[in-house]
Amino acid sequence: MAGGKGTRVSEISVDIPKPLIKVEGIPVLERQILLAKKYGIREIIICIGYLGQKIKDYFGDGSDWDIMISYHQEDVPLGSAGALGNLRNQLNEDFLLFYGDIIMEFNIQRMIDYHKRENSDSTLLVHPNDHPFDSDLIETNHENHITSFLLKPHNDALIYKNLVNAGVYILSPKMLSLIPENQKSDLVSDILIRSIEEGFHLFAYNTPEYIKDMGTPIRFTQVCEDISQKKLTFMSLDSPQKAIFMDRDGVINEEVDLLHDINKIELIDGVVEAIKLINKSNFMAIVITNQPVIARNLCSLEELDDIHKKLETLLGNQGAFINAIYFCPHHPDGGFPEERKEYKIKCECRKPAPGMFFSASNEWNIKLDESYMIGDHQRDINAGKNAGLKESFLIETNSKNALLDQVKSII
Ligand SMILES: [Mg+2]
Ligand SMILES: [Zn+2]
Repeated sequence: MAGGKGTRVSEISVDIPKPLIKVEGIPVLERQILLAKKYGIREIIICIGYLGQKIKDYFGDGSDWDIMISYHQEDVPLGSAGALGNLRNQLNEDFLLFYGDIIMEFNIQRMIDYHKRENSDSTLLVHPNDHPFDSDLIETNHENHITSFLLKPHNDALIYKNLVNAGVYILSPKMLSLIPENQKSDLVSDILIRSIEEGFHLFAYNTPEYIKDMGTPIRFTQVCEDISQKKLTFMSLDSPQKAIFMDRDGVINEEVDLLHDINKIELIDGVVEAIKLINKSNFMAIVITNQPVIARNLCSLEELDDIHKKLETLLGNQGAFINAIYFCPHHPDGGFPEERKEYKIKCECRKPAPGMFFSASNEWNIKLDESYMIGDHQRDINAGKNAGLKESFLIETNSKNALLDQVKSII
């Protein structure tokens, strides 16, 4: 989709269509085309509108890039979905949809595999970001099935999971039947939301890879800097990743005896800055926590989810995010009258066992021997050792700036 009229970046470019804006010497759209080509995509349709002739002049039929490019000219802008509706005769198998003003580097094959495995009608690339409060958010169930969209503006009291629609999709042609002909429509608010009501299966594909819109001059400058520092390549799941793993209670939020009341979550001073530092680095921020509150039946899995949403909200409202939270709900010792027997097992995940580190490593291609653990209990340190991490650091429970100081020493 390259038809949008650039408004916010107009300070950078007046008569260049947004997708042709050069970032470190290469237009955004060309970067997208090169990425698609890298993963074997041979056929591209560019929807053009405003200043579209310049895009045509630049890419021609694609032969200079050894791919096939055709164009769909929109004379009247039909919104983010309308143009797709007019392509319904050409789109007869699942297709990728990119918006032409987004800078990205991600393993497309991995997303395609996920889409196929889930037999999905629409797969949306999602990620946590540093401004969730002014982004459209997505709600999912535990199987990453999208249950609803929370569109901005958000109510101040909203408790959310930091999952933002990044604007990259794989869509089944079935979806096109929902798009009204020759009528303006928005992909999310008019089509995707309705498709859930009509029983289509939408999935969220969560990834820490680099996908950012460059819609404001500040973001544009940031993107240029990130490209020149090769951050995009480092963060692609094509290459092994590094993580800073953190314990939760006593490290991120104040340790209170077996936290199970959502109102008792409080961030420790310095945690927001610490996690922001990780977010800006090439490390992923991952929480690894034992939560025997489930086995003890002090709270349900849903309540624990809400506690984690609250944690993400407290961080997100201040511009910090966690890439993933792994928790062990088990506990080995039985004998409490209220306990849930199915969780009273000796598992592979409860720290000091390394299971949660191994899960994270498998899921995100993380090299454990280049990653770190920060915890406030010997069990955390032993878990880090058992997982083969580069190093594990013990900090004092509930200590102000302890996480921040430790993160600074690593990065
Ligand atoms: Mg702890
Ligand atoms: Zn466990």
